[in-house]
Amino acid sequence: MPRKWTPESWRAHEARQLPTYPDTGALASAEAELRNYPPLVFAGEARDLKRDLADVSEGKAFLLQGGDCAESFAEFHPNNIRDTFRVLLQMAVVLTFASKLPVVKVGRMAGQFAKPRSSDLEEQDGVSLPSYRGDNVNDIAFTPESRTPDPQRMVKAYSQSAATLNLLRAFAQGGYANLHQVHRWTHDFMGRSPWTKKYTDLADRIGEALDFMAACGINPETVPQLKGTTFFTSHEALLLPYEQALTRQDSLTGDWYDTSAHMLWIGDRTRFEGSAHVEFMRGIGNPIGMKCGPSLEPDALLRLLDTLNPAREPGRITLITRYGYDKIEAGLPQLVRAVMREGHPVVWSCDPMHGNVVKAANGYKTRPFERILAEVRGFFAVHRAEGSFGGGIHCEMTGQNVTECTGGAVDVTEQSLADRYHTHCDPRLNAAQSLELAFLLAEMLNQ
Ligand code: PEP
Ligand code: MN
Repeated sequence: MPRKWTPESWRAHEARQLPTYPDTGALASAEAELRNYPPLVFAGEARDLKRDLADVSEGKAFLLQGGDCAESFAEFHPNNIRDTFRVLLQMAVVLTFASKLPVVKVGRMAGQFAKPRSSDLEEQDGVSLPSYRGDNVNDIAFTPESRTPDPQRMVKAYSQSAATLNLLRAFAQGGYANLHQVHRWTHDFMGRSPWTKKYTDLADRIGEALDFMAACGINPETVPQLKGTTFFTSHEALLLPYEQALTRQDSLTGDWYDTSAHMLWIGDRTRFEGSAHVEFMRGIGNPIGMKCGPSLEPDALLRLLDTLNPAREPGRITLITRYGYDKIEAGLPQLVRAVMREGHPVVWSCDPMHGNVVKAANGYKTRPFERILAEVRGFFAVHRAEGSFGGGIHCEMTGQNVTECTGGAVDVTEQSLADRYHTHCDPRLNAAQSLELAFLLAEMLNQ
């Protein structure tokens, strides 16, 4: 029998990647404040997502998950939220059209603040300070005051998440995501990309299909799936004091849900056996993701799956693999075979971002577009060979015209990285690169 789970049972386990707050009284009062705040999402919505993900696990739908590496207080602006949302809509349209499968849309948005770091300390010019851990923990500026963890930042992150989610809900259901608007989701600055023309052609065909349906007497305005869309939120459940404070008991089922987002995931650095993060996640009813990198052994994965999904509920677990373009074909088959052998129902999703970070000659952390594509290609090749369903993509992207990842049809070179490098953490695909990825993915899905 597993040990009793409570929203705070993680506290008796090894917790890596959590900040050390200098003022524990201030931490306790921020947690108490958050415990009184309304849930951001409802348990029923999390169950809806789990049902949609169950379809993905059976090969009947495709998962698109994307957004910032780290949301920030500085980049908080309705236009940024709109622009990321609309690239995701564009990508979803391209993928739906090509795969003829429903696309489950999940943003790395409205709560994606906390970041795991490879080192607790950062050194600059002989000065050593705590690493930046995301805007809900400390500030990115390299001063002792900025880098001191401040629990009130959790309260600010909650407010930003609530406002972001409110806007996303309005975009999804209030007319912006109406399929009739498919032409208007194009970004002005994407004009130079050859994929824009391809997108316009596709939008024309969708427009014709809608006109045809209308002529047949089906008014798209009365069809909820065409009039709006369903959009879910997700983030890495890293900052456990915050996640615990938003974990509530569902009045309908009596089960516990982390109401900070529909879906939460465990990062590659915190998914070790016995970890506080695994302990926390096993007790919440949300659909959960787990990053799987090259260090994960098949047996350890199976033990984690037994802990996190003992009832083998479809839709509960999404395995987000992130090997690196040169490691995926050697590493992934062993995980797939083990999971298939044990009959665990999982969604297999590809994160082609986190195993493909390189340092450019000028010091910028970047990700070459061709390596990202190569990992996606490797992912599908493995699943095709093993007879499993490669059912999702997880990417770090933005609707902004940034220059953070090199390559793509509108080539970002190492020299141009400095032009618009705005990320608070890892390099993101820009809008044109994201759309290009969707088209290339669509081709792979059709093979
Ligand atoms: C992330 O998704 O931003 C991240 C840190 O990923 P991983 O845990 O896979 O390294
Ligand atoms: Mn990242």
